[in-house]
Amino acid sequence: MSQPKKCSYDESCEDLRQRFEQLRRKEELFKIMAESSVDWDVWYGTRDQAVYITPSCLDITGYSRDVFYDDPHFISSIVHPDDLEIFQEHRRLHYVKATGPAEVTFRIFHKNGEVRWIWHQCQAVYSSDGTWIGRRTTNRDVTTLKQAEEQLQRLSTTDPLTGAYNRRMFMDLLVRELQRASRYGEPFSLLMFDIDHFKRINDQYGHNAGDRVLQEVVRLSMETIRQADTLARWGGEEFMVLLPRTGGDMAHALGERLRLRIAEHAFVDADHLTVSVGVTSLGRVDSIDSLLKRVDEALYTAKESGRNRVVTG
Ligand code: GH3
Ligand code: MG
Ligand code: MG
Repeated sequence: MSQPKKCSYDESCEDLRQRFEQLRRKEELFKIMAESSVDWDVWYGTRDQAVYITPSCLDITGYSRDVFYDDPHFISSIVHPDDLEIFQEHRRLHYVKATGPAEVTFRIFHKNGEVRWIWHQCQAVYSSDGTWIGRRTTNRDVTTLKQAEEQLQRLSTTDPLTGAYNRRMFMDLLVRELQRASRYGEPFSLLMFDIDHFKRINDQYGHNAGDRVLQEVVRLSMETIRQADTLARWGGEEFMVLLPRTGGDMAHALGERLRLRIAEHAFVDADHLTVSVGVTSLGRVDSIDSLLKRVDEALYTAKESGRNRVVTG
């Protein structure tokens, strides 16, 4: 039987040296991976203490990671007040137990006062023997993405010239309002108005002046309608207002107020102008189509009967 080979002092030393070198390389690899992360990652221990924080914390929050090591709850003090509830609810649900991946998006105030959007994801972590050793969390700065999303949302729902809602958004809101009003047996009204002889303004003062008049009409209308009302540019120089929880008399009065506000205003580019207004309210048997048809007919009657007036249909 052959005896196990005995290592010489030099051989075992070399073996140890190689294993040490392997460990050193591994450590270096993990350190580079962690320290160069663009995310602000935090590993919390089982008692909620911060075990490790990536340096990107400084970029994203403006505060050095030491601040967060010293006080793991410091983050709560920089969360936007409007998001504090969802943030704390997330922590309450996931930080005390070994739960699976969970995520939440919230805003923080960077040290320089800017608002940053943070996408936060966390999950329980375990040692190789299966013991729960805390949570690994990732905080990703998604501000640019959020801003692009918001801009896209703005572009797809509003009219770029006046900032009023566009026709598509108005239709969505109208469908929702009809469902709501039918369910709760509540009234609502529609107001449609069109600038009188607007073509003359373009012809007389030019198209750019016409554009500015449209912007001014929207500004005056926004000042006149109530907070719950919605103004949309229906097309060209035609606008719609949705008046939730509003019956016919009140809607007519609002139309009259709008007509007067515009008639009495001295426009920068066109001096005085007027609008014709059609009004209608939700009837017992009504659909989106019948409502739109009625308000359009009321506006047509206002035009036909001399303009600069409000007609309820
Ligand atoms: P009425 O009293 O019957 O409503 O007459 P009107 O001249 O207002 O109506 P008409 O439909 O004949 O003309 C509307 C004009 O609105 C024609 C169009 O060039 C102009 N218009 C539509 N959209 C815009 C816009 O975005 N900017 C400018 N400057 N003009 C617009
Ligand atoms: Mg017109
Ligand atoms: Mg028109």
